[in-house]
Amino acid sequence: MKTIGLLGGMSWESTVTYYTNINKMINQQLGGVHSAKLLLASVDFAEIEVYQKENEWEKSAVALTKVAQKLEKSGADFLLICTNTMHKNYNYIQNNLSIPVLHIADATIAELQNKNISRVGLIGTRYTMEQDFYKKRIVDSGIQVTIPEQDEIAEVNDIIFKELVFGKTLAESKSFYLEVIEKMVRKGVQGIILGCTEIDLLIQQEDLTIPVFDTTIIHSEKAVNEALKED
Ligand code: GLU
Repeated sequence: MKTIGLLGGMSWESTVTYYTNINKMINQQLGGVHSAKLLLASVDFAEIEVYQKENEWEKSAVALTKVAQKLEKSGADFLLICTNTMHKNYNYIQNNLSIPVLHIADATIAELQNKNISRVGLIGTRYTMEQDFYKKRIVDSGIQVTIPEQDEIAEVNDIIFKELVFGKTLAESKSFYLEVIEKMVRKGVQGIILGCTEIDLLIQQEDLTIPVFDTTIIHSEKAVNEALKED
């Protein structure tokens, strides 16, 4: 089994989901008392959030790369950046490592293609919804991406940063997300990407009739398959 490197803490609430699910999935496949070989480096999210807000993405790239290099030195065979948003720094981090970094959007694209989705809705942080670093990858794979309306984006984002990163799940926020998704369904999306690793604390497949693409779980599954793959 290969050793998975997790670059986590963004936020730690979702890193818990990664850790739990990766171990459960390894155990389901191997049985007995098997668990994942895993190295976790968890950053102080406050430092990263400042860089996001102040548009200092070069600084976050340097900070995250330092941590990623520690994981590589400690023996990780490959790496996951446990947040959609910080894939903004994917190229910089990957270019400064010799181990592969498994891109969360690429893993999600593979799932969308498996389910023949050609038009998908995306909810996540405002960076992920509005900027190109993530969406463009999906669009370039031939899948149309719809995001919430302009006046909804701030609230979708606020729910992540004011509630979900603290593990707070409020009924009114869930209703709001479901309304936003319902609107996108009316515009013709065939599935919805939970494009923020905390959203599955609030929304699950059973809440919706269209397929839900939970990036935290998809990314974790990708890591487990890679860890168990014979080279
Ligand atoms: N975990 C979130 C994501 O997947 C948001 C936190 C962050 O900004 O990194 O985008």
